[in-house]
Amino acid sequence: MGLDVSLYKKVDGFTLDVQWKIDREFAVLFGPSGSGKSLTLKMIAGLFRPDSGHVISAGNPYFDSIKNINIPPQKRHCGYVFQDLALFPHMTVRENILYGAKGLQHDEAAARCDELMSHFQISSIRNSIPSEISGGQKQRVAFARALIRRPEMLLLDEPFSALDTPLRIEMRAFLKDMRSEFNIPVILVTHDIAEARELAEKIIVYSNGRVVQIGKPDEINHDQAFCFSKLILT
Ligand code: ADP
Ligand code: MG
Repeated sequence: MGLDVSLYKKVDGFTLDVQWKIDREFAVLFGPSGSGKSLTLKMIAGLFRPDSGHVISAGNPYFDSIKNINIPPQKRHCGYVFQDLALFPHMTVRENILYGAKGLQHDEAAARCDELMSHFQISSIRNSIPSEISGGQKQRVAFARALIRRPEMLLLDEPFSALDTPLRIEMRAFLKDMRSEFNIPVILVTHDIAEARELAEKIIVYSNGRVVQIGKPDEINHDQAFCFSKLILT
């Protein structure tokens, strides 16, 4: 029970036209800047509407242009971690996590928040605000917020791009643990080929709004994929 995606969208000067399916696995979305990776995640989450296509999560249609289905974002069970993390600077760690719990009953939200803070070892900083905590702690707050509603999938849009290398390596290990614990499809957007190779069970390579390769890491032509990653660095 995974995710089945077919998206067609024309925006000024750019066309996204992709079809892919993943199981309950760790998928990496890889490709140069401007190839449509973030648009794809936004359409899965319902933040941006495709012209046509479908998004089916665990058998449930979130979007289907033929059947005229378009479930609003708050009713899609997607945990989303944004590139800049999007933590609220004036809110404490606990408040930031609880922000993700909209629609949950107060006691239930509080209990899950405690559980996640303890799990991610951020209970001791529950009353700190983001400027008072480390980069790795901020990451864990963003993940806890994304997980508090027990989503059907996790969408990660370059969540580690702001971190230095040692911390990125630490966060990869954290992601692996989290993945085996929560056992939901994860879609990670990354520029980092080492990160893709280490984490991915499936790699989907985008170029200019299309899928150019899809497969297990050892089935992917890494030279071609690496070329894309170089394009991003220049
Ligand atoms: P990336 O692969 O770097 O995440 P994006 O998905 O953000 O790429 O963007 C793909 C293309 O779509 C870009 O050309 C961008 O300018 C365009 N685009 C992204 N968001 C919008 C939007 N809200 N309205 C119009 N065009 C957009
Ligand atoms: Mg992007």
